[in-house]
Amino acid sequence: MGKRRFEKMKERRQSIANERMRILLDMAERSALDGDLEHASRYASLARRIGMRYNVRMPRGHKLAICKKCDSYILSSRTARVRLTGKRLTRQCLKCGSYYRVPLKGRRGETG
Ligand SMILES: [Zn+2]
Repeated sequence: MGKRRFEKMKERRQSIANERMRILLDMAERSALDGDLEHASRYASLARRIGMRYNVRMPRGHKLAICKKCDSYILSSRTARVRLTGKRLTRQCLKCGSYYRVPLKGRRGETG
């Protein structure tokens, strides 16, 4: 009994965390589009921290990536240089210069 209740609570906490992350990521995206990259990175790293704490994955549907090195928000074409090399998409964080390779799996027209 006790264990089950604990599981339920955990699930609830995770869904709350997920909702918060979504809000933060929306804010990050909007800030980035406004050119406010400082806030964008801040919101994005907050979202990531929540995800790590509650063991929740980043919600899908966001055209974002977070630089693993400097924690800044990478919005394709805005804060990163995106280049197509063969079947791969290479993203470069403009803040610290890290490269990320994103394999393209037969999808077209989705270059970000
Ligand atoms: Zn970076």
